[in-house]
Amino acid sequence: MCGVFGVFNHPEAIKLETIGLFGLNHRGQESAGIAWVNYGNLRLRKGMGLVFDVFPAPEGKPIRYKGKVAIGHTRYSTCGESLAENAQPHLAKTSDGQIALASNGDIVNFASLKSWLEEKGMEKLKTDNDGELLVKMIAFYYNEFKSKGSKCDIDYFRRMDWLVQAIKKTLKEAHGAISALVLTEHGELIAFRDPLGIRPLVYGYNLPSESWFFASETCALDPLGVDYQGEILPGEIRVLGKGMNRFFYPSENRAHCIFEHIYFSRPDGWVFGEYAAKIRMKLGSILAQEHPAKADYVVPVPDTAEYAAIGYSQVSGIPIMPGFTRSHYIGRTFIAHEQIIRDMGTKLKLNPVIELIKGKKIVLIDDSIVRGTTSRKIVRIAKQIKRLREGAKEVHMRITSPPIKYPCFFGIDTPTRKELIASDKSVEEIRQHICADSLGYLSLKGLLSCVKNPKNYCTACFTGKYPMDVSEKFKTAK
Ligand code: AMP
Repeated sequence: MCGVFGVFNHPEAIKLETIGLFGLNHRGQESAGIAWVNYGNLRLRKGMGLVFDVFPAPEGKPIRYKGKVAIGHTRYSTCGESLAENAQPHLAKTSDGQIALASNGDIVNFASLKSWLEEKGMEKLKTDNDGELLVKMIAFYYNEFKSKGSKCDIDYFRRMDWLVQAIKKTLKEAHGAISALVLTEHGELIAFRDPLGIRPLVYGYNLPSESWFFASETCALDPLGVDYQGEILPGEIRVLGKGMNRFFYPSENRAHCIFEHIYFSRPDGWVFGEYAAKIRMKLGSILAQEHPAKADYVVPVPDTAEYAAIGYSQVSGIPIMPGFTRSHYIGRTFIAHEQIIRDMGTKLKLNPVIELIKGKKIVLIDDSIVRGTTSRKIVRIAKQIKRLREGAKEVHMRITSPPIKYPCFFGIDTPTRKELIASDKSVEEIRQHICADSLGYLSLKGLLSCVKNPKNYCTACFTGKYPMDVSEKFKTAK
């Protein structure tokens, strides 16, 4: 999972780009990068860490990079390891100059496309990242379309025609989730999305500055005072250069990722045309109807489950108690690299407000159980198992999604089948594993009743029904 952000036609494009990316840091905390154009030169800077680690705000001084167009990326690795070279944007050369690309998603036929591209004599991919594959494919097809095209003077319209054709061809060949931004060294910005619209991509406009903005989520537009205008449609290729033009790679089907609503997106924004916090409240309401519990308090696991807990509380009449606090200063990389800290894991991130929940029966709400590690730890912390002090008397775990039984190949880092606890364990076995007094998952029907157009969603992680052929991914999964 990742975040992308683009700015077109703003004198402070790079400063606004860093702020926009900051608003998308929840979508990726491993690395950040920005590509921009300065006097006809495509510049790139990227590194490991949070957005403000890679682009620190210079004290008292304006940010030194200049340019009116920029694209950027925050990364959460799904394709390729968490390494600096895999950070996006990636660059490629066309015969009319460099292009940069930032993408959120994952390509299911990555391995075969990588070999194909190398056979075609394109420069070998330097990374294992789908963003590099995409930008190199686009450059390859651009050169191909150009070689077949008219040999007259190369103007803006010809270049854009070849570029749009190259993106269409790439969308046809590269199967998977692609919500991407391309920047040319001439200063054009192109936003496009795969025909199924798996990952979100929105745009906004700022009238006083006449600038356009593109973002994975609307929450990144808000701090900039940018009005959200709508989604880049599935299969749409939108060109901003000399004016604005829209092209389409047609598809009737949709496969929006339902997990964006359950877990990934921030609550304060529009995702696939629905307001995320409202959906989460509905998830909690339906969960309360499907799995009531006798308890003193509804306790959310912060942060994602907070809105669902409100929904559960409203329907059940059980008051909410913020029985856990969460540290916001702990990054994923930090946890991953220090063994001693990794062992503390969840305990460092979440601490019970024990005086509020001790001796009480609680309904603990979380968004999902993947491997079962977090739920087990949280329940044990709530009950203060192995501690000398009193914990919650009963913990009734309620989950705002169905059991995750199948891996996601479209940009969410769910592990292989055997690592998914629900792939071979019953609900009762999972309950025992996590030490809960009862366990209830939201049903698939209940989940789909919370969105306006249920048939437009991908639910493969629960059902195994993938919206495209994913056999290559299954074969190459470690
Ligand atoms: P696990 O401990 O493996 O069962 O993971 C479940 C916990 O991780 C839940 O509390 C979720 O909020 C969170 N979670 C779910 N999906 C993801 C994901 N793709 N990446 C990171 N965390 C996740």
